[in-house]
Amino acid sequence: MALSSERLFDSLGHFGRFQACVYFASVFQAISCGIHYLASVFMAVTPNFVCGFPGNVSSVLFHNSSASSIEDIWTVWTSTENYIVAQLENGEIWELDQCSRSKREVSLDLAYEYKGNKSVFPCSDGFLYDDTKWKSTVVTQWDLVCDREWLAKLIQPTFMLGVLIGAVIFGDIADRLGRQRVIWFTSAGQFVFGIAVAFTFDYYSFVIVRFLLAMVSSGYLVVAFVYVTEFVGIKARTWASMHVHAFFALGIMVVALVGFLVRTWWVYQIFLSIATLPFVLCCWMLPETPFWLLSEERYEDAQKVIDTMARWNKVSTPCKVSELCSVQQDDLASGRTGDDDTSSTKKHNILDLFCNWQIARRTITVWLIWFTGSLGYYVFSLSSVSLGGNEYLNLFLIGAVELPCYIIACVAMDKLGRRNTLIPFLILSALICVLIMFIPQDFNILIILANMAGKFSIGVAFGLIYLYTAELYPTIVRSLAVGSGSMMCRVGSVVAPFCVYLRSVWIFMPLLLVGIMALLSGMLTILLPETLGKPLTNTLEEATEMGRNKKSSSKKTPPAHSGSEKTPPALEKIEMFGQEREPLLWLYILEMASPKVAVVGAGVIGLSTALCVAETCPSCSVTVLSDQFSPNTTSDVAAGMLIPHTYPGTPIHRQKQWFKETFTYLFAISNSAEASEAGIHLVSGWQVFKSTPKEELPFWSDIVLGFRAMSEAELLKFPQHRFGQAFTTLKCDCPPYLLWLEKRLKATGTQTYTRKVADLWELHSEYDVVVNCTGMGAQQLVGDKQLLPVRGQVLKVHAPWVKQFIRDGDGLTYIYPGIHRVTLGGTREKGSWSLCPDAGTTRDIFDRCCSLEPSLQGAQDIEVKVGLRPSRQCVRVQREVLSQGGVKLPVVHNYGHGAGGFSVHRGTAIEAAYLVGECISALQGSSSRAKL
Ligand code: FAD
Repeated sequence: MALSSERLFDSLGHFGRFQACVYFASVFQAISCGIHYLASVFMAVTPNFVCGFPGNVSSVLFHNSSASSIEDIWTVWTSTENYIVAQLENGEIWELDQCSRSKREVSLDLAYEYKGNKSVFPCSDGFLYDDTKWKSTVVTQWDLVCDREWLAKLIQPTFMLGVLIGAVIFGDIADRLGRQRVIWFTSAGQFVFGIAVAFTFDYYSFVIVRFLLAMVSSGYLVVAFVYVTEFVGIKARTWASMHVHAFFALGIMVVALVGFLVRTWWVYQIFLSIATLPFVLCCWMLPETPFWLLSEERYEDAQKVIDTMARWNKVSTPCKVSELCSVQQDDLASGRTGDDDTSSTKKHNILDLFCNWQIARRTITVWLIWFTGSLGYYVFSLSSVSLGGNEYLNLFLIGAVELPCYIIACVAMDKLGRRNTLIPFLILSALICVLIMFIPQDFNILIILANMAGKFSIGVAFGLIYLYTAELYPTIVRSLAVGSGSMMCRVGSVVAPFCVYLRSVWIFMPLLLVGIMALLSGMLTILLPETLGKPLTNTLEEATEMGRNKKSSSKKTPPAHSGSEKTPPALEKIEMFGQEREPLLWLYILEMASPKVAVVGAGVIGLSTALCVAETCPSCSVTVLSDQFSPNTTSDVAAGMLIPHTYPGTPIHRQKQWFKETFTYLFAISNSAEASEAGIHLVSGWQVFKSTPKEELPFWSDIVLGFRAMSEAELLKFPQHRFGQAFTTLKCDCPPYLLWLEKRLKATGTQTYTRKVADLWELHSEYDVVVNCTGMGAQQLVGDKQLLPVRGQVLKVHAPWVKQFIRDGDGLTYIYPGIHRVTLGGTREKGSWSLCPDAGTTRDIFDRCCSLEPSLQGAQDIEVKVGLRPSRQCVRVQREVLSQGGVKLPVVHNYGHGAGGFSVHRGTAIEAAYLVGECISALQGSSSRAKL
């Protein structure tokens, strides 16, 4: 998914009418997942039972109660420890236990107590079940009691195993075949397998069909999660995706309701399966996501979906796919294999989560929380029916209590902090587990309320652990950390049913285990650092340091960078931009392997693209290869002023987005303590025209600060000009900015090598994806004939009294004051490759600038620089796949920025980084499953 695709929501709305319909339709079916996950709580109930007897019964006795049939005894039956005495019509008297029966040798009169001899027999005539509550369950249907009891106990764990496998398989299929097809298949599958379960003829077919049902149910949940996140814009995405789980909880409530109304297991199963039939009938109408269509290069289909979205959302001018992303696909199959030994990128693996004591301790704690969250969730849900009182109401309430969980989690984690929310809720759930043990068994209401409170607190903790895990780990292993955490969560869900069965050892055993785990996790969480308001870390060293600074950051609402020199407030904003987009990439780049990305070129475009890839692709191993680094690139020559140059072949809204992202990014730096090191500062001034310009308002006028027409008084300074615009913009002092970018890159673990790349194909054996940021070098490297040099000569002078920028409206003459030196320009010589300064041009530039600012006559220390602007009709930010002999190499191009590279570098870098994400996603074919 390209960043440009994300812009779709800026034009169509983040959660308009269309998205609302698609969202509620898809999450409606999530109810079905909740239903099938929890259906076994009633379907596999083991009612009271005793051994069957041979023959017809004439009277039955249980202590002092007698009856003519065994059905009448169940109402007084109190304990499984006791037996029932039955007299048969032939006079025999039998004592019926649960798993055996004995015939009294002497059967003179029917008494409950008997001291004489007995012959013990196995239950060869089957069992008699209490059918007062349930007419039939799978346990009574296939006699899953006594020596077959273990088969009943395997029903829920085998289902959970199906859940685990289904999530992995369907996550993968959804990437290959599309979300829509998997949504159809899994929802139809839930219906078909759900009904089929009701018609299974023996235990084994029942378990197999339920296993398939589990696979499609979890498959649906995983893909529906991706589906809704791809249709909902970033502004509504966190809430929308979190509340998918609330519909799962509704499913639990439906189970309670249907269980109450229908008491024959197979009828109950049929009713549950048809609960979401309306969705199955109309799910074929759901469209494929534009993101998936774009990733498959099905542009026409994507455009149709976008048009439909626009119609529904009442947007009159829907954006065009061709404007959103680069659609040209040049089938370049060129290049010879080259070899070089520069492949020293570092691959990260699970051991990095244990690289030092701080991080290892963090990993153990985080895994424990994931495991405990899942264990607690299912233990409270599954055991709610055994709490006494009305089991249907209990389950209903246990589902209902989940609904506010996610709202509380969303609000509390932003107000109190992640750690400060997690600790009290984990410890609270542990305390509640203990409290339940002390509540007398006949205080049903109290027990139920306490269980609800337990499920609520574990639910809140469970709800926020995803985000907290992601924030605790540095970019380079973030994906690994979240992926491994979610695996621990699934292990917890498989273990949970076994834990519930421990009730037979001691009724409070499951709660004791959950309580111990929750207490342990809560205590260990105290040692974790708070992450609210902290920038994401990039390296393991930074992440380790974050743990050490825990004390200073543990205040209730911590200041963004309490006491840390490395992370000034403004940089937090910078990180937040990356963070805002990151969840999307996490959905798309989830494999635990470290994809190797080579960025060729070390000008402003190469370095900023490498930084964006490293920041937004946590598992990528990034390397910068370039024949020249600062101070020997074109970027070092540039004036570095943020005034966009217009590219005729690139849609204006795309250029505007690039400029806006770049301006916002540099503005944050200019407000931080890093401003002077990065060479970024705000500068005000004038753009003056000899005649009124065609367009009074340039497209970027609302992005720079305080854009306005110049006053008459201001124009007096420029007697040859009749019109002018005043505004404040940013200026980069280029060499310091490039060094600052290099420094930040190193902090992410990115490697840099001096190497001339003769052919991109030579990198195919060392790297998974190559990013071409070679500026003018691309003309030779990829044979781009559209790329032409536009020679520019500038003077860098010492004139500290010049504080205001002045730019002639034609862009040829300009005076741009930097932090230390003033840049005077310039020239635009199309097609000239000469890098030699021209003395005549130097004089001309100086004279032109002096006529705009006469005080420059006193400028000293004049230095002349020449650079070749890599000019093109449109900037090439585009994906391409090179192939030779069946071997493919995905390439992302990011070059051709001409006279405006600095003005749009961050915007194009972000877009290129997302294209890299798409390439990796296509290579691994696995997006979302590890997260879900
Ligand atoms: P470069 O900086 O040229 O970087 C290309 C990199 O690729 C280099 O490191 C090079 O060594 C490497 N490379 C090339 N080929 C290969 C290869 N085969 N193998 C390995 N490495 C390779 N823009 C603005 O926004 N504002 C301004 O005020 C401004 N003023 C300017 C003034 C002048 C005089 C000039 C010349 C340009 C100006 N620009 C300005 C434009 C801006 O400088 C460029 O758009 C920008 O520098 C392009 O950056 P780049 O990284 O693509 O190219």
